[in-house]
Amino acid sequence: MIFDRFRKIDSSLRRTRESFFGRIAGIFQRSNIDEEMWDDLEELLIQGDVGVETTEKLLDALRARARKERISEPPKLYAVLKDEMRALLAGAQCDGLLPEKGLGVVMVVGVNGVGKTTTIAKLARFWSSQGHSVILVAADTFRAAAIDQLKIWGDRVGLPVISHQPGADPGAVVFDGLTAARARGADLVVIDTAGRLHTKFNLMEEMKKVKRIVAKQSPGHMATLLVLDATTGQNALIQAKQFQEAVDLDAVVVAKLDGTAKGGIVFALADQLKVPICFVGTGETLDDIAEFDPDRFVDSLLSQNGE
Ligand code: GDP
Repeated sequence: MIFDRFRKIDSSLRRTRESFFGRIAGIFQRSNIDEEMWDDLEELLIQGDVGVETTEKLLDALRARARKERISEPPKLYAVLKDEMRALLAGAQCDGLLPEKGLGVVMVVGVNGVGKTTTIAKLARFWSSQGHSVILVAADTFRAAAIDQLKIWGDRVGLPVISHQPGADPGAVVFDGLTAARARGADLVVIDTAGRLHTKFNLMEEMKKVKRIVAKQSPGHMATLLVLDATTGQNALIQAKQFQEAVDLDAVVVAKLDGTAKGGIVFALADQLKVPICFVGTGETLDDIAEFDPDRFVDSLLSQNGE
């Protein structure tokens, strides 16, 4: 099976599991629950990139349950911690990005270097392996390299890329992409955009324009997907909030989860962004993407030997 999402999540979390989160399990092997234990837990969660605010929220919930349920043994408290973590992530559960029928349009945003182009290629391949007929649109016309890169990935995954010259109007490329989709009977258009934060006004205007064009051309379902780089830790959260202000986000992909020892950013995103996390990037090859599964994520993160 190409997309063994469970195996991918497990192996991509190896680094995270072997550092801060692995040490969390050790805390609960102590003989009793005391203040030192709470302090150590707090420290590890913060070091693991869960963030101060989300860590406090998690620990408040855990303390409340420990009191209410009169928990005095560390292993029982550990089980409750997992419970609370799952509950926190439940808010980020992804119920699918694509429409049940008709043309789906996914607009992908994200700053340079986060893994946007690679993620587009991975997703395009994932969706085409599920039977979708996918067209890629190179609407990041700001950088010539972005167009070239998407074409290279398009070749690798064997999917058509609709593009114009560098500097062309992104709206015009999107228009052509949608026309091509109709002409070729494709059911999914994935748009690469010039999602740049330093041109927030332009970004917003560009996204609005693209949305207008999509709405006019194919009044179907359009989702805006933000790609974040897990290795940037709390910066990923700040970036996500800025994007959320500029454009309405429908979902997030957390790329490079394999490259960080601090996978806790996923909890911070789930808690503070309130946008579904649909996929995680688990490596550099085309197969390295997995659908995000909150329960599985918690289990993988807190299992001590990765089994
Ligand atoms: P873009 O500028 O946002 O389009 O970023 P690219 O798609 O060009 O990716 C930037 C770098 O991140 C490349 O070296 C990719 O191979 C790498 N990359 C992308 N996704 C992942 C991932 O999930 N894991 C790892 N380890 N590297 C990734």
